[in-house]
Amino acid sequence: MASRKILVTSALPYANGSIHLGHLVEYIQTDIWVRFQKMRGHEVHYVCADDTHGTAIMLRAEQEGISPEALISRVWEEHRADFAGFGVGFDNFHSTHSGETRALAEDIYLRLKDRGLIAVRPVEQFYDPMKAMFLPDRFIKGQCPKCNSKDQYGDNCEVCGATYAPTDLVEPYSVVSGAKPELRTSEHHFFALSDPQCREFLEHWTQADDHLQEEARNKIREWFDQGLGDWDISRDAPYFGFEIPGAPGKYFYVWLDAPIGYLGSFQNLAQRTGLDFEAWARPGPGVEMVHFIGKDILYFHALFWPAMLRFAGYRTPHRVFAHGFLTVDGQKMSKSRGTFITAGSYLSEGLDPEWLRYYYAAKLNATMEDIDLSLGDFVARVNSDLVGKYINIASRSAGFITRLFEARLSAHPDRPSVLERLLDPATWDLVGQLYEAREFSKAVREIMALTDLANQYVDAQKPWELAKQEGERERLHQVCSASLNLFWLLSVYLRPILPRVSAEAATLLGLGAEQMAWGQTQALGAQPIRPYRHLLTRVDPKQVEALVEANRPTMQPAAVANTTAARAAKPQEKTAVEAPPASTSSTITIDDFNKVELRVARIVSATHVDGAEKLLRLELDLGGERRQVFAGIKSAYDPAVLEGRLTVMVANLQPRKMRFGESQGMVLAASGEGPGIFLLAPDDGAQPGMRVK
Ligand SMILES: [Zn+2]
Repeated sequence: MASRKILVTSALPYANGSIHLGHLVEYIQTDIWVRFQKMRGHEVHYVCADDTHGTAIMLRAEQEGISPEALISRVWEEHRADFAGFGVGFDNFHSTHSGETRALAEDIYLRLKDRGLIAVRPVEQFYDPMKAMFLPDRFIKGQCPKCNSKDQYGDNCEVCGATYAPTDLVEPYSVVSGAKPELRTSEHHFFALSDPQCREFLEHWTQADDHLQEEARNKIREWFDQGLGDWDISRDAPYFGFEIPGAPGKYFYVWLDAPIGYLGSFQNLAQRTGLDFEAWARPGPGVEMVHFIGKDILYFHALFWPAMLRFAGYRTPHRVFAHGFLTVDGQKMSKSRGTFITAGSYLSEGLDPEWLRYYYAAKLNATMEDIDLSLGDFVARVNSDLVGKYINIASRSAGFITRLFEARLSAHPDRPSVLERLLDPATWDLVGQLYEAREFSKAVREIMALTDLANQYVDAQKPWELAKQEGERERLHQVCSASLNLFWLLSVYLRPILPRVSAEAATLLGLGAEQMAWGQTQALGAQPIRPYRHLLTRVDPKQVEALVEANRPTMQPAAVANTTAARAAKPQEKTAVEAPPASTSSTITIDDFNKVELRVARIVSATHVDGAEKLLRLELDLGGERRQVFAGIKSAYDPAVLEGRLTVMVANLQPRKMRFGESQGMVLAASGEGPGIFLLAPDDGAQPGMRVK
């Protein structure tokens, strides 16, 4: 197999806050992809860095009474520990506040200037006369010009959702000093994206060669239709960043040097390990540069970044892979609900990072759709799939091998059909293509289907019964050896997702690196194994409750607003219909069940909700009583067909305030791994208000 050369990046985390579970979607997604490529023998370098510049960092450091350098170095240590804790295997985690990034930023800027792509012109902007600084939009507040709500940010109103310029605010004030800002003019440097050569290049680059996902290409066509504007890449002193060469008092805007930080980090790695930086960073065949990003920063990565690289003489990206945001229990992550969960708290509360890696993998696909961390489903799925199915295969067989067969596998293990399938190159190809295409949820589904077959084999052979029969010793040895072969192969298939558990599985089975590589086609021979010790524990729902508690507001210091692009999850509406867990492991009593008041309801009306991507507003008749429910079934139902239908609702669910109004219950629907949502309906004759039990 020809080895590929791939430089992979994840977006740079901003150095004024902690890593949270929303960030981890991207790092885990990237890490799985990188580990898969490395298992196949490709040369992959996975680099990242802290994004360290800008007004927010400068003010935060000032607030804490320390230098920006001290702040970013403390945060860097924290970020590095969080990523290591979750098994994110960067080959280099650097900082944009580095000599490499500074030199590259200056070089790129000067080359763009030589090509006539840097424009300088005056910009009128709010200035804080007390603090003697220009104010980014997020550092100006005032009264919303549309709805008159007080204390709204300079770019949009959180009450009515209006967007506007800071100059539109009524009674504006500086968030930094409280002073009334004045309009002042200053010279700014622009990257001339509107230049015909940029436009021509980008029109081709963004639409050609699968550089972008189709949804991203469509988005970019819209941006082209709106016209590409020049990009303001300078900020005035005081600013924490790199001063622009030949422009005293002017600094590179943090978003200019952030992506350059990818190359800075790679150059730092190259210098330490003897890689040829020039060969990787300059145009030419043979190297793929792949960026994983959130969909909120597509504009930077699909327009500014490739154009900067192209016209400064650097390699342009081979792929930009954008993913969606994380919701928790169907809602935007929320500090007040305790669902703004930090990576550090997850680790310190003692939850296993591989649980989250598995759960995210089971949800991730190649699209820009948001993914939901449903906490109940998280517990059920990890316990059912990972512990109940996968680990179970080893735990039921390893003990017999150790006790009865001198801890050595049979030279002639049984060859059930599932073992043949796991060894079949076609299966490796199938699952491999899914990893390659970032269709991780489909890969997990394939692997879990094979895990089910492996369990069926163990269930049918009943090693615990064979062990009771003296005459079945040889058979027992063959069956348990086959089971451990199955466990080994499943561990290799799952290795990109579960680096720790798969490494421990390799230790248990005494396997070397070659036997953990992708594409195993030979069963293990008379291999010595080590005594079995449990590789993964079950999730206790109490641990998840404690985690949410640990993230409630008292724990959170007030954060300075983040001036780089919004990195928190986008507001998401609550999805009132939730998929039931794929399987549950614990039982409930009839009393538990009776707490849920299920009633037959008639859908009186169903309407679209302005601004809600997934929701329909349902008006339900419960036999006289009317309820309003927002249900996440828009993708599956045309409102017109719902009116008059009977369904089943949870009538005693605590009402929930949403952006669109109050949701007073929940309708029941079925859904599975594939597409489709199926509303429940009672048989003919049922009447609205009837209790379902
Ligand atoms: Zn408003």
